[in-house]
Amino acid sequence: MSSVKHVYTFGNKKAEGNGKMKELLGGKGANLAEMNLVGIPVPPGFTITTEVCAEYYEKGREGVVEMIRPEVEKAIRDIEEQTGMKFGDNSAPLLVSVRSGARASMPGMMDTILNLGLNDSAVEAMAKRSGNPRFAWDSYRRFVQMYGDVVLGMKPVSKEDEDPFEEIIDHMKHEKGVKNDTELSADDLRELVKRFKAAVKEQTKQDFPTDPWEQLWGAVMSVFQSWMNERAILYRKLNNIPAEWGTAVNVQAMVFGNMGDKSATGVAFTRDAATGEDLFNGEYLVNAQGEDVVAGIRTPQQITLEGSRRWAEAQGVSEEERKAKYPSLEEVMPAAYKELDEIQQHLEEYFKDMQDLEFTIQDGKLWMLQTRSGKRTGAAMVKIAMDMLSQGLIDEQTAVLRCEPAKLDELLHPIFDKAAMKNAEVIAKGLPASPGAATGQVVFFAEDAEKVYTEGRKVILVRIETSPEDLAGMHVAEGILTARGGMTSHAAVVARGMGKCCVSGAGELVIDYKTKTIKVGGKTIKEGDWISLNGSTGEVYLGQVATKAAELDGDFGKLMELAGKYATMKVRANADNPADAKTAFGFGAEGIGLCRTEHMFFEGSRILAMREMILADDEAGRRLALDKLLPIQREDFEGLFEVMQGYPVTVRLLDPPLHEFVPHTEKEQMELAKETGISIEKIRARVDSLHEVNPMLGHRGCRLGNTYPEITEMQTRALIEAAMNVEKRGIPVKLEIMVPLVGNHKELRYQKNIIDTVANQVFAERNDRIKYMVGTMIEVPRAAITANQIAEVAEFFSFGTNDLTQMTLGFSRDDIGKFLPVYIKQGILKADPFQVLDRNGVGQLLREGVMKGRSVLPELKCGICGEHGGEPSSVEFCHSAGLNYVSCSPFRVPIARLAAAHAALK
Ligand code: ADP
Ligand code: MG
Ligand code: MG
Repeated sequence: MSSVKHVYTFGNKKAEGNGKMKELLGGKGANLAEMNLVGIPVPPGFTITTEVCAEYYEKGREGVVEMIRPEVEKAIRDIEEQTGMKFGDNSAPLLVSVRSGARASMPGMMDTILNLGLNDSAVEAMAKRSGNPRFAWDSYRRFVQMYGDVVLGMKPVSKEDEDPFEEIIDHMKHEKGVKNDTELSADDLRELVKRFKAAVKEQTKQDFPTDPWEQLWGAVMSVFQSWMNERAILYRKLNNIPAEWGTAVNVQAMVFGNMGDKSATGVAFTRDAATGEDLFNGEYLVNAQGEDVVAGIRTPQQITLEGSRRWAEAQGVSEEERKAKYPSLEEVMPAAYKELDEIQQHLEEYFKDMQDLEFTIQDGKLWMLQTRSGKRTGAAMVKIAMDMLSQGLIDEQTAVLRCEPAKLDELLHPIFDKAAMKNAEVIAKGLPASPGAATGQVVFFAEDAEKVYTEGRKVILVRIETSPEDLAGMHVAEGILTARGGMTSHAAVVARGMGKCCVSGAGELVIDYKTKTIKVGGKTIKEGDWISLNGSTGEVYLGQVATKAAELDGDFGKLMELAGKYATMKVRANADNPADAKTAFGFGAEGIGLCRTEHMFFEGSRILAMREMILADDEAGRRLALDKLLPIQREDFEGLFEVMQGYPVTVRLLDPPLHEFVPHTEKEQMELAKETGISIEKIRARVDSLHEVNPMLGHRGCRLGNTYPEITEMQTRALIEAAMNVEKRGIPVKLEIMVPLVGNHKELRYQKNIIDTVANQVFAERNDRIKYMVGTMIEVPRAAITANQIAEVAEFFSFGTNDLTQMTLGFSRDDIGKFLPVYIKQGILKADPFQVLDRNGVGQLLREGVMKGRSVLPELKCGICGEHGGEPSSVEFCHSAGLNYVSCSPFRVPIARLAAAHAALK
């Protein structure tokens, strides 16, 4: 036997592991150990480490069993001692659950088996001991069902088919004329077990194993196996969880929520996972087991009285009906409820985060089965962090780090317009499972959702209920609507985790997968029809409902303030016009990192002047056209400077190749000829002459300004005059003129001469002067490498990581679609380098550029203005490379600010 420990036991307020050992024991195992250590009642059990999972993929089943058998046998004996039951015994059989548990929580992604250890003789013993044969047979049928599904591979044959076991149950219910599985008698359940086993034998050609040890090893190995199942792989991909981590396996004595009316099972959250409200909440079912609550088999009931009343109101259920049919746990089992409430408070205070709990009440006695940090929406994330800060549970730094930058995106998404909502036709009402506003076309299957999504259409995934198989479809959907399931159903939990709008449990909907229709209130909705979901109220509307920009509350403001306090890097925005600048300024942007002047040339009559300039025969003709553009540009710049109130504004001189400004179709060219009086032949000839084989590497950037200096002259004059005009009005201006696409310091020198000359002319004309800076983009690899020479001329650097990525990798951003998906699949690339900065290549050039630049100008201001400026992991890299700021699109400013704070705090 090796000296490495593979098995860690827990039980009776003792544990060999603890809550910090998540890498080795997985999240579930580590917290089961920790709950024991803090004195919370947890059924005894043990955890097989994540390292064994890796060994499984090397050694296979036989090798692993041999390796861990002695430790597992000893751990089972420990459970036997604590429970007074015996594994495989015929009078007091010990039953266990076998549960997976990875380092990061992957709810419902891998498989769990309950009631393991049962066979035809153990079930009789269990019936006799408990005096409750129905309970014994119910446990047995569940075991056969789960084991058959997970270990023996009894799955539905096609997507339209029901689960083979559920089909047998439905048949049975029909035969007996009952609605709920709780109405089936012990004899019915005994018959079910028989039919289940026969079905297993027929479909899988295997006998159902009767030896508990064989069952145990089969279950343990299939948990390891499930780490590599398709949905687990997809979940890891969506959540950036490495495959190497592996899963642990938890084996634990069963406690039974299905023992009768004094037993129950449920899930709870210490705060509201959808809104963040500080309110204990959750769902439970009497006489039920395991995942019954989440699977939406029966309508789950609320744990607290308050929650129950709110639920009834939302569902239109009267107080009498609620009390009679759906009472809260607080009302039904007050003693157990009180203990649960104390434990939830204890656990939240202990872990200092919102907890997601699982519990079971066996004959009045409460047992805790799981605690973990609960998944939550972006809004809940911010509210919970800020509340916990003001409640003194966590400090400012922790509060900032609790908020995931990328998740802020959800808060910035549009919401339904109130007026439009009033006029919308409500066709159903479900539970407000995950807030947001979603509009899309109905699809019924996850794979159809993916297909429709790739066609560029918006979809709402409509399911009776969702399962982990639907993950990919949920991911691409605008929103998710289910007919069954509560606030803790799979759909609800996963949607909240994804920050996706979800309405669950809209019971009026009659969904038919075969005809692909929803019937509700006399209406039939077909696949492809538009519907809208309000995840905050649970309302479902027919058609498309108009949306408007989100409203941000005080908690968001407080978080942004804290982010500003802890970040050392500044965040600017890429904005080309006053409206965008205003949005960015509102989100706290401390400057404009990139204003692309060419965007100003497209509107209205401007494009005509621009085209005249391009079509001109000589410099004189160009100047004539540029004179028309000058006042327009000046006005645009004034607007921008006014909005930014003295914060720096970096304006890039004209960058794109001129052919982007001229018309390419015959019709447009004819129109242009009419408008300008220039002959169509001449226009055509000029357009042809502008054609380039590789325009992105052609006549663009500073190459334009150096071949047509009059363009730079006009833009400089517009900038300097605008700045002087605005300053005259008492608004300070910090102007930074940026020269694009420099690869050779002489290019920059040439441009700087032009800029300084024009500026001095304007100063002389007005007998006044202002400060301005001249800097450059670093976006050609040669510029990064020769940054020391460039810094002799430049007063600031801005890394243009879009072009820099393009030129460093030799990937055309516009043509990447043909190979990128394959490269990512093959693992050649981890992510799209245009989204996530390529640290080892582009990142190294960036570091070198900063270093060489600052070797000449120690105070050189360096920033980044590519798309990467709003992507959290790239922001982190920019911080480590010593940049002064990142610049990103206005709506990503909050994300970048928070990411910058994270980078500084980590
Ligand atoms: P998941 O990771 O999908 O939540 P779990 O391993 O937590 O899966 O188990 C699924 C369900 O089975 C949960 O509702 C859990 O509470 C229940 N369960 C697991 N182990 C036991 C046990 N020993 N006794 C009673 N119920 C259990
Ligand atoms: Mg599970
Ligand atoms: Mg669980």
